[in-house]
Amino acid sequence: MHELGVVLEIVRIADRRAHEEKANKVTRIVLQIGELSPLVPELVEVCYPAAVSDTLLSDAELMIETLPANAICRNCKKVFNVVHHEYQCPVCESRNWELLSGKEVIIKEIQIV
Ligand SMILES: [Zn+2]
Repeated sequence: MHELGVVLEIVRIADRRAHEEKANKVTRIVLQIGELSPLVPELVEVCYPAAVSDTLLSDAELMIETLPANAICRNCKKVFNVVHHEYQCPVCESRNWELLSGKEVIIKEIQIV
């Protein structure tokens, strides 16, 4: 499963950060996952408990926010969600657009105590 490796890497980064901050534990981690990212949020949640065992994140609540897959049309400059509009500009129906966001996986926030 692709997700487990990525989740382990995210947990490793967050755990290292928490150690650097001399935290006792992490209480919450907020991830942002792009709509076009290969990561499936449901599978991230499935992998998460195994990935955090024996780390400072073992009691941390996981929150996942979805980043929209937004693109700008090169023809009419309209910004639109490519997933909702089936990869076609809703104004001029062009398929010539540039992706602005939606592929990223970001650790947005780590709450420590
Ligand atoms: Zn357009």
